[in-house]
Amino acid sequence: MNDARNTSGTVELDQRHVWHPFVQEQTAPAPLPVARASGASLFLEDGREILDLAASWWVNVHGHSHPAIAEALAEQARTLEHVIFAGFTHAPAARLAEALVHALPRIDDRGLDRVFYTDNGSTAVEAALKMAFQSWRNQGERRRTLFLAFEGAYHGDTFGAMSVGRSSGFYGPFEDVLLKVRFTPFAETWLDDENVDAREAAALAELDAILERDGRRIAGFIAEPLVQGASGMRMCRPQFLRAVCDRVAAQGIPVILDEVMTGFGRTGTLFAMEQAGVVPDLVCLSKGLTGGFLPMAVTVASKAIYETFLGQDFSTAFAHGHSYTANPLGCAAALASLALFESEQTLERIAAIRAANLRWLAEAATLPGVHRPRALGSIAAVNLGPEVGDGIGGEVDYYSSLGPKLKARFLELGLLVRPLGNVIYVMPPACIAPEELARAHAVILDVLRETAPLYVKS
Ligand SMILES: *Cc1c(COP(=O)(O)O)cnc(C)c1O
Repeated sequence: MNDARNTSGTVELDQRHVWHPFVQEQTAPAPLPVARASGASLFLEDGREILDLAASWWVNVHGHSHPAIAEALAEQARTLEHVIFAGFTHAPAARLAEALVHALPRIDDRGLDRVFYTDNGSTAVEAALKMAFQSWRNQGERRRTLFLAFEGAYHGDTFGAMSVGRSSGFYGPFEDVLLKVRFTPFAETWLDDENVDAREAAALAELDAILERDGRRIAGFIAEPLVQGASGMRMCRPQFLRAVCDRVAAQGIPVILDEVMTGFGRTGTLFAMEQAGVVPDLVCLSKGLTGGFLPMAVTVASKAIYETFLGQDFSTAFAHGHSYTANPLGCAAALASLALFESEQTLERIAAIRAANLRWLAEAATLPGVHRPRALGSIAAVNLGPEVGDGIGGEVDYYSSLGPKLKARFLELGLLVRPLGNVIYVMPPACIAPEELARAHAVILDVLRETAPLYVKS
């Protein structure tokens, strides 16, 4: 199946009938046909191997086509593939809900107790926003019609998710029809950052002003904890996230943590919120939930939020649900993926990746035009560009032509590295071998040396 004729067959058919996400179809290079994948590697139809340093859009956790997850899926498919989830339940959904509730952090009697199933990160966010909003309505409070989010946030592509992620800059055409949102600064930081205290103090002062002015009209606050993914792997200190959540919670505003990208070990702990000592009212999980095998998501709610939906009639019920809610195959994959965290010591592997990433960043940061080295869990990133004070050096320019050029060069050299504008990051699956990672690091350093004239002003 991997001769040249077949390769062109896949791409030709694709080019005739498929519409790809997040690309300008007219100018995008033809997609690469992947025949199979295993471990950290993708194998193209022409036999070429590509190391997946983007965890396939941040979903893959333990490696591709992991046999334990594949086996669990096959067995579930032969037993119960899917069933309506209104009025019915099944062991995979009940067991996964229990496993998630136990895996999520608790502080005293505050925890996340109720698992609502949806299909993807955007729907997990959509459900969380609707829960926060309706929870107020169910309590007779009608003034809270605003949401609060971080500048630079990304929460997905449905309307509610676009509204709270608007400052990512993807949604210009929809501006007129989005929800009303206040945006508060995200105090990003990096390894050699000397101004973080001042930046955090300024961000908190601005948050205080927003809360003072609009606090009583805000229905919910949503945040990506510790790392803003799509806006360029921007990282903040745990104490900043904690301070923001404390201020918001003190106003009685529900805190929604979007762990769609950060969940399942990506930041070194099973969930990023653990590092900040924050237990939100709602959490959104997806991407790594099934280990990267199937689209599935959950919104997990506190007991307090859940109880505002209880009553004698349907008017306070959460009238929201998807056809494939709690798909048993997704649940089986998620249970198998969770089990691997113990049997394969996934968090220890991720700690080793971080150590290697830190050594690589130290070298990368000595190159011209390479700024803001940062690493958390399996994620490591740098910004490329001219350095202009504290603000630039540089900000993410999503439409920068640099990203596509670098991406093409990395692919030629056998690496899947997808720059976010002028930000280069790696986020390998936990299974990546030390020598694979070392090779990737060396290739990226070579490419940075080679392409420096593109982003260093002479
Ligand atoms: C990817 C992502 C989403 C959206 O998830 P989809 O499955 O792509 O809809 C939401 N929030 C964050 C933080 C993400 O990284």
